[in-house]
Amino acid sequence: MFRFAPSPTGDIHIGNLRVAIFNYIVSQQRGEKLIIRIEDTDVDRNIEGKDREILEILDTFGIKYSDVIYQSHNFKFHHQFIVHLLQSGKAFHCFCSPDELERKREEAKQKNRPYRYDGTCENLSNIEVLEADKPSVIRLRKPNKEIEFHDLIKGKKRFHPNDIDSFILLRQDKRPTYNFACAVDDMLSDISLVIRGEDHLSNTPKQIAIREALGYSKNIEYAHLPIILNSEGKKMSKRDNSSSVRWLLSEGFIPEAIGNYLILLGNRTPTEVFTIEEAIKWFKLENISKSPAKFDLDKLRFLNRKHLHRLDSEELSKRLGYFDKEIGELAKIYLEEASTLNELRTKIDAIFKDNRDCGEFCDEVEILKNAIREMDTIDDFGEFKKVLMKKSKLKGKRFFKPLRILLTGSEHGPELSLLYPILKNYLGRIV
Ligand code: GLU
Repeated sequence: MFRFAPSPTGDIHIGNLRVAIFNYIVSQQRGEKLIIRIEDTDVDRNIEGKDREILEILDTFGIKYSDVIYQSHNFKFHHQFIVHLLQSGKAFHCFCSPDELERKREEAKQKNRPYRYDGTCENLSNIEVLEADKPSVIRLRKPNKEIEFHDLIKGKKRFHPNDIDSFILLRQDKRPTYNFACAVDDMLSDISLVIRGEDHLSNTPKQIAIREALGYSKNIEYAHLPIILNSEGKKMSKRDNSSSVRWLLSEGFIPEAIGNYLILLGNRTPTEVFTIEEAIKWFKLENISKSPAKFDLDKLRFLNRKHLHRLDSEELSKRLGYFDKEIGELAKIYLEEASTLNELRTKIDAIFKDNRDCGEFCDEVEILKNAIREMDTIDDFGEFKKVLMKKSKLKGKRFFKPLRILLTGSEHGPELSLLYPILKNYLGRIV
């Protein structure tokens, strides 16, 4: 079983989406199911409705999953496992107050030492625990050996017990921490491979330690994906518009291209332009570069153009908000100079706009309009030009510029001879 585990605390960013796509691809390759686990244990940060938005985005990208699980529904299991860990002595109550801990953390900082839990409550007797009339958290007892695992992308990783520390499993308010809930849920769902961002690399030994303490012996594999950097080489943040999947979609990047780009990023692939479904045939996690990848909007624009070309004309027309195939064909001609749905829509809308910005050619545009209205449809552009020139008595620049403005709503654009075979069918609407 595979899982994608988003938190409903904000918009899905490209890093999350990349994780979802990779989980989908590898689960398909291995013939295993993919579940979506909504990690909603941080109640203060949950945003109403984000879970549905995340699922909608997955649908938009064609990421199919077998089930959706809400982490908060597993609280009862988290509590049962806490009892088990306390009984076996693998976890202990800690009564240190947040202020006390903060003071010690500050002290360590002053001495330039990393803060570690100092074991104050590690060896309290049952009586001391029962008689302590204070709120407590539950901590996992620091493992007594190094924790090692082989990451499918990063290779061998080894962590010293001090780097794992006696960390918190259950908060004072009885909510599990991320590490505890995640470790238990991965076990409960029988996850075989966890693919996630490298920001979680230091959590992995903690999650392994939890499952070891619980006596779970199945080895869960891990693959941590390198972070994505912005064009300045810094970690992408909310301030980078292009890190938001919703922003990219609203700008007219299509899911096919975004999916393609996220698979291509920092990867070695046999081809450059492909769909997620096509990538299932050859994708290898091992080919993902260990080092961070840089987001390149120009490359995404290039891929977007390629995928817009790949759409059949009817579909392209639909995505532009039009309903006939010929508009899709027209749009493909405009792909010479446009890369997103929004840019294409601007060009196509200009053709059908009532008021044209005719600049110094307004008289000529009017003359041409009247002439065309009196003409029968002519299929051949050469013939059309010839008849129109004769009828309007215009020529040279004073014929071609206003003709372009009249037919396309713009002074510039692809060759009229390319556009005309389609535009001729819309002359009634245009003039
Ligand atoms: N909810 C975590 C996140 O969105 C999931 C981490 C994980 O995959 O374990 O970063």
